[in-house]
Parts: sequence; C-alpha cells; structure tokens
Amino acid sequence: MNMDFRREMPTARVIKEMYPLTAEMQESKKKNDKEITSIFTGESDKFLLVIGPCSADREDAVLDYISRLRTVQDKVGDKIVICPRIYTNKPRTTGDGYKGMLHQPDPNNAPDMLKGLISIRKLHINALSQTGFSCADEMLYPENHQYLSDCLSYVAVGARSVENQNHRLTASGLDIPVGMKNPTGGDLSVMMNAITAAHHSHTFVYSNWEVCSKGNPLAHAILRGYSDKAGASVPNYHYEDLEYLNELYIKSGLENPAVVVDTNHANSGKKWFEQPRIAKGVVHSMCHNPDLRKLVKGLMIESYIEDGNQKPDGTTYGLSITDPCLGWEKTEKMIYEIADLL
Ligand code: PEP
Ligand code: MN
Repeated sequence: MNMDFRREMPTARVIKEMYPLTAEMQESKKKNDKEITSIFTGESDKFLLVIGPCSADREDAVLDYISRLRTVQDKVGDKIVICPRIYTNKPRTTGDGYKGMLHQPDPNNAPDMLKGLISIRKLHINALSQTGFSCADEMLYPENHQYLSDCLSYVAVGARSVENQNHRLTASGLDIPVGMKNPTGGDLSVMMNAITAAHHSHTFVYSNWEVCSKGNPLAHAILRGYSDKAGASVPNYHYEDLEYLNELYIKSGLENPAVVVDTNHANSGKKWFEQPRIAKGVVHSMCHNPDLRKLVKGLMIESYIEDGNQKPDGTTYGLSITDPCLGWEKTEKMIYEIADLL
C-alpha cells in the first residue's frame, strides 16, 4: 500500500472513557432526541432548524454562537426546535483544502488526526454542557460516528456521500434522525434509494464487527439544490419541488415522509443573504398546502456570527472559513420571522 501507517488511533470506547458525559448531559441529549424525533414521527408539529456555521473552525466562536442560539430557543420554544450545526468533518469537491476540525484542529497547522478527534469530542461535549444542545454533524466517515454518538441528536449524509453503501447501511443502524441530501447532480431517485436503504435492516461489517442494524425509520430527505451540466446552481425548494417530493414519498410507501430544506448550497447558489427569503418561501409553501405542512419538518441554515466568509487562513472571529454564512443579527431576525409565520 502506498501510505505511511503513522500511529494506531484509540477506539471510540477509549476516547469516550477519557471524555465522558455527565448524567446531566445524558439527560439533555435524551430530552433533545425525544423532541426532535417526535417532529419526524409527526407526533409534534414543531418546526426544526438545523442551523449553524458551514464548518466549526474554532471552539470559542462556535460556543459563543451556540449560546446565542440558546437564548433565542428559549423564546421560540413553543413553535421551533433548534439543533445547532457543529460540522467537524468537511467534504471537499476536489478533495483538497480544509477538511474540518477533525483533520485540522487548528486550520493554520498541519493535519493532526488524534488531536482533531479529541478536539471535536470536546467541542460537542462543551456545547452540550454549556447550552444543553446536543447538536448536528455531518456523518462523512461512518465509522467515526461512534466517537460522537452520545453527543449528537441529528446527522446528515452529504450530497457527495449519499450514493455510498457504507453511509446508507450505517444510517440504518442509528437511532437519531439522519438527513439524506440529494446528490450534487440533483437526481432525487439517488436520495430516495438512500432513504429506503436506511429504513431497512442490514448485516454488514462495521468497525471490525459483524453487525446487524435494525433499520432507521427517521431517515429522511434534505433538498439542497443541485448543479446543472454547465455547473450552474439550480434550486429545488420551490412549491412544485416539494409537491414532487411528496409524490415520490407516496409512491415509495416509506414510513415518516419528511424533508428538511437546506437554504444555502445550490438552493441559494451560495448567496448566503438569500437564506431568509428562501426560508420564508418554504414556510409560505407549507402554509398554503396541508400536505406540505406535514412533509416539511424544518430547514437547514448556514449561519454564524459574521456575514459571509473568508479564506481558510483568515483569522476573523466568527466568520466562516468554508461556505458563506448569514451573520448573527440577520439570523436572529429571521428566526423570529419564521416563528411568526408558523
Ligand atoms: C454542508 O452542509 O456544509 C455541506 C457540505 O453540504 P452538501 O453535502 O449539501 O454540499
Ligand atoms: Mn456548507
């Protein structure tokens, strides 16, 4: 093999023993899981916001951001459930560039996977203990999910991973909602096949074990827009797109039809400032059609402290180093507007 086996990594059990959750933190996670799960099963008609920066670049700014969300959550809790994004693994279009805190706990230093693994666990734990939020992350490397499984209340399978069998089978063995994004090319059958695979039970190898998953009825769709063959962004959050997805769900016979609409990425063409308009547009579609009110469970929004983004070596506090985000002031206003419309 053409790789240097540098050092053996500690197992998830070892890392979890080194950095355990307190009973209080376990209780918060249980409560959040119940609240978020009940949105996907239809027992609750609250609206989910999976919201936060594109990537969790540094602990201080991310915790500052999430504690602001806590204050807002306490005001809109009768209608909205917030699950902050702490995205510690970043897929890259060409494979090059900043791959997230897991690879580079300091974005300006060389990759250090052990330090990264510990940093991402500490960040999720500190968010849980300081704010009571068990957060969302992308399940980019399915085997790594175990290092964070006691901290997360939501995971997404990204547009570049959704056709991958390993992601689908692992999703079938999780007991939290898993959002399956449409692929970058926009073919919704790929996403629906991923949801179907995740709903079913499978026997496979996971972390050197033969495992049998139970199937995950909380796996659902995320619409994130797509790129056409010339590379231009095409949105898929409009009324007709949601109606079409509803038809696909009816034909599939799947349990718990559900979609979360991603307001950034190819839905905004990364025009981050369009996110409040897109968010309100989706809520408007829901208010117009009771079928869509049932289908659309929430939004995924890229938001941080400052508007926009900077280069990965930028040092501005609270400014995204990957996709451009909606800044705090506009975010807070948008959440109150969404709550008023619901
Ligand atoms: C993201 O949510 O930041 C992301 C990388 O999404 P996608 O997989 O839709 O590109
Ligand atoms: Mn992003």
